[in-house]
Amino acid sequence: MLLITCPVTRTDELVADRRIRSVTSHPTHLAMAVECPACGSVHVYRTGRRWEEARRRVAESGTARAATAAATAASARAAHELTRA
Ligand SMILES: [Zn+2]
Repeated sequence: MLLITCPVTRTDELVADRRIRSVTSHPTHLAMAVECPACGSVHVYRTGRRWEEARRRVAESGTARAATAAATAASARAAHELTRA
């Protein structure tokens, strides 16, 4: 089970695992397509944990400034896509 917020109805919905249509692994995050019980459409949600891990790894390798800039841009994009989803 997972908790999502439907961008259409703005309500929090508890969603069963079987409603997860797909999970796509990206280098910086996971994108989950979830069938919404509130409005019936499919919303995409992105997890930030992997993004944090990737950012930390890159920062440790010595290119911290470039990594932070790239990660910040990626985060802003993800947030934007979330509000648009
Ligand atoms: Zn919905």
